[in-house]
Amino acid sequence: MKLVRFLLGEEESYGALEEGRIFILPQLFDWLPESLEGLVNAGFESLSRIEARLAELPEEVKEKHSVEVKEVKLLAPIMNPPKIICLGLNYRDHAAEQGARIPDEPIIFIKPRTTIIGPNQPIVKPDFVKKLDYEGELAIIIGRRGKNIPVSKAGDHIFGYTILNDVTARDIQFKDRQWTRGKSFDTFAPIGPCITTRNQIRDPGNLRIRTWVNGELRQDSSTKNMVFNVYEIIHHLSRVMTLEPCDIIATGTPAGVGVFMKPEPKFLNPGDVVVIEIEGIGRLENEVVSETGL
Ligand code: MG
Repeated sequence: MKLVRFLLGEEESYGALEEGRIFILPQLFDWLPESLEGLVNAGFESLSRIEARLAELPEEVKEKHSVEVKEVKLLAPIMNPPKIICLGLNYRDHAAEQGARIPDEPIIFIKPRTTIIGPNQPIVKPDFVKKLDYEGELAIIIGRRGKNIPVSKAGDHIFGYTILNDVTARDIQFKDRQWTRGKSFDTFAPIGPCITTRNQIRDPGNLRIRTWVNGELRQDSSTKNMVFNVYEIIHHLSRVMTLEPCDIIATGTPAGVGVFMKPEPKFLNPGDVVVIEIEGIGRLENEVVSETGL
């Protein structure tokens, strides 16, 4: 299933997206949690019951409790993750474009949850940020708590996948020589448009990932180029910290970020539109706005 959270008028809900229509799950099944985060907390195993019951429902019942995706405002699928963990230098092509050595263990950092915005919400550029950049990334949504998870069991802890733009102020990142401040501004983690449940992604290690800025293709790679695959990432992270349902793990960005463009860097400015597309998940689009313009 592709799960989305949305606003219909004033009312927030969530549902399963199929060919432009959203089936509003808490209306169809009164035994479901009220929120999408509640559903993720119930774990991946709870989904098969929903899928089976959806398939049994008469079309007219499904129609009655559905809405066209164009009638709603899509929201970030998760707003309050326990943590957002991100990997640096996890694509061979991205390490190569900056002449960096491929790490022998994942390099990680954390973004605060106040960075999260949804599809079509603006990325706010403070005026003192001069070198704003995008990073298109596949993000894992954790569905089961775990510590010291072996690689062979890591798949059981995945609920699904979404897209995350690891927006970065390069000037601040390089000045500070670490990543927290430059990657932690409000609105610096657009996510969405949906959570594709893990059973819909045959091989998370073979997904095309592309990023455009104002229609210009900047990143065009595959999750094949990851240094650590999603299972190895879960294994390594869980040796450090307990992974919990709704945790978001951004798995790193491929080559083609603005700062390493040749012959010169191309940073983001107000008015620019960033679109990230990952096979099997969808398109995440966000415009950059100036803080003073708000
Ligand atoms: Mg990143």
